[in-house]
Amino acid sequence: MDKVKAKKHLGQHFLKDESIAKDIADTLTLKGYNKVLEIGPGMGVLTKYLLEKDIDTYVIEIDTESVAYLNAHYPKLHGKILSEDFLRYNITKTFADEPFAIIGNFPYNISSQIVFRTLELRERIPEFSGMFQKEVAERICEKKGSKTYGILSVLAQAFYEAEYLFTVPEHVFNPPPKVKSGVLRLIRKENFRLECDERLFFNVVKTAFNQRRKTLRNSLKTFALSENLKEDSIFDLRPEQLSTEEFIELTKKIAANGV
Ligand code: SAH
Repeated sequence: MDKVKAKKHLGQHFLKDESIAKDIADTLTLKGYNKVLEIGPGMGVLTKYLLEKDIDTYVIEIDTESVAYLNAHYPKLHGKILSEDFLRYNITKTFADEPFAIIGNFPYNISSQIVFRTLELRERIPEFSGMFQKEVAERICEKKGSKTYGILSVLAQAFYEAEYLFTVPEHVFNPPPKVKSGVLRLIRKENFRLECDERLFFNVVKTAFNQRRKTLRNSLKTFALSENLKEDSIFDLRPEQLSTEEFIELTKKIAANGV
């Protein structure tokens, strides 16, 4: 069967370098379970190494041409190819309530949505690793104080330990993307349950970073802060000066303010 012709609107950049595919497959630690979901396998360059390691591999792929290719080339994947959109698929249909890791050389056009969807499913996902455009991978792992620290960093690090692993150059893809890529790994924290109201936490983080140059006193005005609370020195800060833990403390204060 012919190779799949890359489709731009699906973010298709196929990895050519086998040793990098193997390195990405090797990032998984899989402690105490063996199921993995690969997002966007394309022609299976990474899938091949997962199967070699006897990992119980499922793949989810939106492109029917790639799905046909996988069916033709990987008999071991029989019954485990989901011809679906990861962002819309109800994953319970495949994994019931069992834990599974996520891996991929992801479609970069939906990078942030993949991370947000993973956070929604975090009860089931102990580990997440793979490749994004370098800037996104770095942002997710960034600590407070940096210019690129933002919503993705705070929300991902509320539930996961994030580690930037290595950088991948443009020329190992077909077609080459315009930017470098970065591989990261997220390992879920032992205690990943938030100690504050989750909806309020997400809301506070997003609102604060939407006006990242303002102090929290100004950017969080819509939360109807009492005069008393506004005097708290935490509100002198800008969002990039707060760690995930400090955002949780801030959320608790705002929640108590309304009582
Ligand atoms: N992992 C392959 C392909 C990377 S390109 C490789 O390294 O060569 C990204 C892949 O994600 C493409 O195959 C694309 O069809 C797929 N994809 C894009 N959007 C998707 C979605 N919403 N759900 C599942 N797969 C998607």
